[in-house]
Amino acid sequence: MATQKMLKFVTLGRQMPEKRSAEERSEDFHEIYREFADAKAKEQASRCSQCGVPYCQSHCPLHNNIPDWLRLTAEGRTREAYLVSQQTNTFPEICGRICPQDRLCEGNCVIEQSGHGTVTIGAIEKYITDTAWEEGWVEPIRPAVERPESIGIIGAGPGGLAAADRLRRMGFQVTVYDRHDRSGGLMIYGIPGFKLEKDVVQRRNALLEDGGVEFVLNCNVGEDLSFDAIRGKHDAVLIATGVYKTRDLDIDNPDAHGVIRALDYLTASNRIDLGDDIPDFADGELDARGKRVLVIGGGDTAMDCVRTAIRQGARSVKCLYRRDRANMPGSQREVQNAEEEGVEFVWLSAPAQFIGAAQGDAGPVTAINAERPHIARVRVQKMRLGKPDVSGRQSPELIEGADYDEPAEMVIKALGFEPEELPRLWGVEGLETTRWGTIRADFRSHQTSLSGVFAVGDIVRGASLVVWAIRDGREAADSIAEYLGASAQVAAE
Ligand SMILES: Cc1cc2nc3c(=O)[nH]c(=O)nc-3n(C[C@H](O)[C@H](O)[C@H](O)COP(=O)(O)OP(=O)(O)OC[C@H]3O[C@@H](n4cnc5c(N)ncnc54)[C@H](O)[C@@H]3O)c2cc1C
Ligand code: SF4
Repeated sequence: MATQKMLKFVTLGRQMPEKRSAEERSEDFHEIYREFADAKAKEQASRCSQCGVPYCQSHCPLHNNIPDWLRLTAEGRTREAYLVSQQTNTFPEICGRICPQDRLCEGNCVIEQSGHGTVTIGAIEKYITDTAWEEGWVEPIRPAVERPESIGIIGAGPGGLAAADRLRRMGFQVTVYDRHDRSGGLMIYGIPGFKLEKDVVQRRNALLEDGGVEFVLNCNVGEDLSFDAIRGKHDAVLIATGVYKTRDLDIDNPDAHGVIRALDYLTASNRIDLGDDIPDFADGELDARGKRVLVIGGGDTAMDCVRTAIRQGARSVKCLYRRDRANMPGSQREVQNAEEEGVEFVWLSAPAQFIGAAQGDAGPVTAINAERPHIARVRVQKMRLGKPDVSGRQSPELIEGADYDEPAEMVIKALGFEPEELPRLWGVEGLETTRWGTIRADFRSHQTSLSGVFAVGDIVRGASLVVWAIRDGREAADSIAEYLGASAQVAAE
């Protein structure tokens, strides 16, 4: 009886795969969790209560058939578990690694609600597809029929790639354009290797290429090739360009030497991890080694920066955030990982001024320096939480006279991202945007205001998650097929 293998949560405790010690993992950029052993994955999957209404599934943006693949794993039928898992998710092993499960599937697991500790859904999803890769079950796309219509996809992040995968399975001719030299979007150049190792992304890119998806890399649409040219070349176009405009600080001289943007820092570190030569890293500008590092921000990008700085051998790493721990946007799991690795969080604190080395204690960089002296200190203001604003969130208020100086040789600004102004940059008339600058697209069909042009991922949602970009990309692929008059029949996956 299948259920005899399940419902073990009463006798079996929750266990994650082993986490490497903070000392060991702080020395490298490898993922921090080891693989589940086969027996452990089966055992942990068997904790699922197979409830009639699986809240995990409804809170997964992809509506993964979680109870089904947990049961198949518990029964040792890993290949079947893989086949079920990849029907709804284009990159299950990536989501298993980097989804904030505590807010999605696992946070809504019924046995978590009853105090037994959630089923480790993400770790098992990763185990199933990693096993599939090891066993050679993951095969390139071989469409049953080739169709003549072609689709141009701008942006090789998870949104664009999920659409490319699904469209190619239907037999369409797919070309993906990206301004970077590698595909993967933020999965390759944003998210660090200790959360998502680069070869996990690269083997997916290679598989898509093997399956006939064409990549045009180093192609900045709007500069190297116009949007109109892409539109003229393809029967439909998908915009999946993400959001890259960095939010900045409204203080004097936010660009003092040694004050850097999070994505410049993370991209350089990821490129080093991939074996590239980066002059700004080699000359020390983007290398935290030996420095006192201050990271400003409380989101997941800030968490990635502090943990990268630890691995680069920073002398000390502190994170300044203007609210408190309970009110930060970043995941608590990541804060805990960062603290274990030696990061100090300075809650209820915000930068007021950057002070340069050349002036010693003489004053702010802006006042005296025309040549951008190197940052030496940050004047920090202390905050308290005031009354809730309209959104119900408590706003930080300044505590007068509580300022102090924090020494720093590197300051990383991790304050979030906004969309670039695509219609203006690309000179496209009629491409409607919202008042936040994101592209206006129908939330189901992903059709924009231009005929035959669709949009997905962060450029529509604002900064979001990989799993939402995948969902959008899959849905848009079906809408594009419908638009082109083809039934959305996906080749055997
Ligand atoms: C540091 C960091 C850490 C994150 N960590 C997580 C995490 O742990 N879990 C999670 O779920 N999400 C995380 N996210 C968010 C996640 O990465 C994004 O939500 C997701 O990648 C969005 O996918 P996308 O396809 O919309 O865009 P992107 O991944 O941003 O890809 C867009 C692609 O479009 C290309 N492009 C842009 N403009 C042009 C142009 N003009 N011409 C050609 N190409 C262009 C870019 O080069 C890029 O490759 C993180 C984000 C950051 C910045
Ligand atoms: S895709 Fe993300 S939310 Fe869905 S089951 Fe996997 S880890 Fe959970």
